Amino acid sequence: MSAGKIQGLIPQFLCLAALTACSTTSWTVEKAATATCMVSEELDPNLAIQLSQWVQEDLELVAGLLSLPVPDRPLEIYCGIPKASGGHLRLQPGESGRHQSHGGHCRVELHYGEGTRLRAILRHELAHHVMEEAGFPEWLNEGLAEYASFQLAASPSATDFHQLLHAGMVVAGWGLPLELVDASGHQHDFRPQLWVPNPENLLAMDYDDYRREVMGRAGEADPEFHAISHLLVRKLMRVQGSEGPEVYLRALEKEKDPFRAYMQACQLDEASLFLNALAEELHRTLHESNCTEASLQAFAWGPCLYGKLSDAQREGASGTVALQAYPSGRRFWLYDWQN
Ligand SMILES: [Zn+2]
Repeated sequence: MSAGKIQGLIPQFLCLAALTACSTTSWTVEKAATATCMVSEELDPNLAIQLSQWVQEDLELVAGLLSLPVPDRPLEIYCGIPKASGGHLRLQPGESGRHQSHGGHCRVELHYGEGTRLRAILRHELAHHVMEEAGFPEWLNEGLAEYASFQLAASPSATDFHQLLHAGMVVAGWGLPLELVDASGHQHDFRPQLWVPNPENLLAMDYDDYRREVMGRAGEADPEFHAISHLLVRKLMRVQGSEGPEVYLRALEKEKDPFRAYMQACQLDEASLFLNALAEELHRTLHESNCTEASLQAFAWGPCLYGKLSDAQREGASGTVALQAYPSGRRFWLYDWQN
């Protein structure tokens, strides 16, 4: 699944048409020991060499970060611009990347985009390639793929931060209000309308549940799913380091209950600590990664947050200060967990 698809998603499905059956495109092919990289004809042929170098540099880093071996299965990477219909990629317009595997072959598709974004998506999909045989639940699969992509970014982009702030909205939906401060220093609570699964259900989801409950919802749930999975993984890795996934799986084996296993792996004694622990993790990550005022503003200004407010909230806000406060560039933060 894609990395960082925050908004404007469209329904996704798996196209079963084989590449060769519908392809009239010629591809620039770069073959290396790690992967065969293919770039469609409308793109710069040198991109194939670039992709191949990135795979060479990033595959081991991703595997190391996840404490998993580098797979020796053949890996094919296609990069192009998906068409609305009749294209040669299985990606849908709006879908940034995809990893699929069958018959011992791994196939990654990338929606062409500018440099850092393309590399971030590539890292996400490489993480799926590395995790393929790990048997992780869906939140770990997507959360670790996002985690790897974020960790390996030399300096996380506004898009990377957007996802973490989006996770903050989910935490708010689970019971902690978003707190916005307007130009006069007044505070406002917002409870955005979100796809917010029960945490127990989210942790228990397998791939079929994911396809039905997340992909089946015309894409609206996908940003929330990726964002919160990323935050859950961050907290787990904070407590257990790179052993986090293994510690969680061992706890699951013993507890048989995903939520209890997660709490145990994160050394949280009471269910009531769950939300605060995630909010705290979010604040620490934003702080440590030097999330800039500009990134916060980009989020507060953007259609994402606005689109998640109810009509009543928008009305209440627009007449007074809060929504006017975004363009004025005032501070924005989530519920202050320290108080
Ligand atoms: Zn994914």
